[in-house]
Amino acid sequence: MSTTRRQFLHASTATALGGSTGWCRSADDDLAAAAPAASVSIAFSRFDLGIASGSPTADSVVLWTRLTGSDLPTRVEVQWELAHDEAFTRIAARGTDMAAASWAHSVHAQPRGLEPGRWYWYRFQALGERSATGRTRTAPRPNARATTPLRFAIASCQRYDAGHYAAWRDVAEQNLDLVMFLGDYIYEGASRSDFPRRHEGGEAHDLESYRARYATYKRDPLLQAAHASAPWLMVWDDHEVENDYAGLQDPRLDPLFPARRAAAYQAYWEHMPFPKAARPRFDTPGGAMRITGRLDWGSLARIHLLDGRQHRDPQACPRPGRGGSNTVKSAECAALLDPRRTLLGAEQERWLAEGWDLHRPWNLLAQQTLMARHSWTDTADGGGTYWSDGWDGYPLARQRLLGAVAKRRVPGVVVLGGDVHAHVVADLKADFDRPESPTVATEFCGTSIASHGRPQELLDMARTFNPHIQLSRSDRRGCMLFTLDAEHLQVALRAVDDVNDPASNVRTSASFVVEADRPGAIAA
Ligand code: FE
Ligand code: CA
Repeated sequence: MSTTRRQFLHASTATALGGSTGWCRSADDDLAAAAPAASVSIAFSRFDLGIASGSPTADSVVLWTRLTGSDLPTRVEVQWELAHDEAFTRIAARGTDMAAASWAHSVHAQPRGLEPGRWYWYRFQALGERSATGRTRTAPRPNARATTPLRFAIASCQRYDAGHYAAWRDVAEQNLDLVMFLGDYIYEGASRSDFPRRHEGGEAHDLESYRARYATYKRDPLLQAAHASAPWLMVWDDHEVENDYAGLQDPRLDPLFPARRAAAYQAYWEHMPFPKAARPRFDTPGGAMRITGRLDWGSLARIHLLDGRQHRDPQACPRPGRGGSNTVKSAECAALLDPRRTLLGAEQERWLAEGWDLHRPWNLLAQQTLMARHSWTDTADGGGTYWSDGWDGYPLARQRLLGAVAKRRVPGVVVLGGDVHAHVVADLKADFDRPESPTVATEFCGTSIASHGRPQELLDMARTFNPHIQLSRSDRRGCMLFTLDAEHLQVALRAVDDVNDPASNVRTSASFVVEADRPGAIAA
């Protein structure tokens, strides 16, 4: 039996046992160690950016690949097939898609009529070559009673030149139901000479250079293994376009920024397993792409996917002559307390407020950045000091969101985020200035896959000003692993020992539990 076969049999067993083999298997488990090699050892020139699946529903999932080669015709027929078994003896669906040069020869196949809550294997064929095989699944039927827990990871901020992707090897080894990628899939900047890896080109700024940047990232075998292991849900943050952009404004106040954003949105869609319906439109400046969405996972959870970039107001109180983020004292920045300012935009705010699930035990909010108040100075001193790019820059929008959760008693709200390059575990308060006020939701902000964090001493100091933050560790790279059932959410904060080593050990650095009817994280 091949290692791949064994890996997937093992995966099915783990699923059947309700994931009881868990996410704490040691890294020297031979099956676990074999997983990435099995997924990445098959390389084909036309498919060297790998394969991926994503945006699952109860009856469909998007299958992605992108053909490469400078000699590709303008249009290429690509066959895809989806099977019940890894040997493809029982085909569930097959079809043909056209890969067009105008969309970078990407494929976003959408098999229909699949069975809910089932595992599938998929692969592609084009120009006489066959891709590697990926493992994916559909969501359970929306009213299906949960018999097995939902096991998923959150990850973000995978700056390629800053390190290697041992964290992705860890994700691939877990045989998860879902991977949620919460932003900064690429970094647009030039590669730094003091970093362990290099990539092509300077700063990405047009369609060609964004495409090239995605190609660099997607050639990483450990990232490919993570994609091949489970369906992904994706939201973007700023670096998919440009650091600190807000709507149609960039930090340089460049009048040509809308054209750059449109190119970046196109390259993003081309490289991610989004459905065809999500393809960006270019009939307005800057283009438009909808990443906001919802997925109901059986009777267990409603997952809300938010866009904190495309529709936000510009950051408050920027440096003179600039846009983008700043570190501002609350007492010196009246705009911070302007109730009209939003992070999500009025329409998306309303969409969220109207779509909370009051029946399922959990509402998972997959979004970009840290929601908990995080003052860098004592708040008794003029109200505190804040980084204006995160939710701290939009405190009244945050209060509206958490206020609605409290008022409507929305069950099991768990905010998932990235962006700050630190593991952060926080209790989200009805009023952050009154530590005794009720906790209305729980927050888990995953650290970066590779991007560097701020000095740990700064975070340690800030903890004293933010008692609702239970843990903040910027000196860890990795991800977070979750196991969700109707009563509990278990969380493992995964930490890579050495980000410069793709073979690095990855371990659980801390564990937490959230009880379904009681917001707030409990150290486990
Ligand atoms: Fe980042
Ligand atoms: Ca970011």
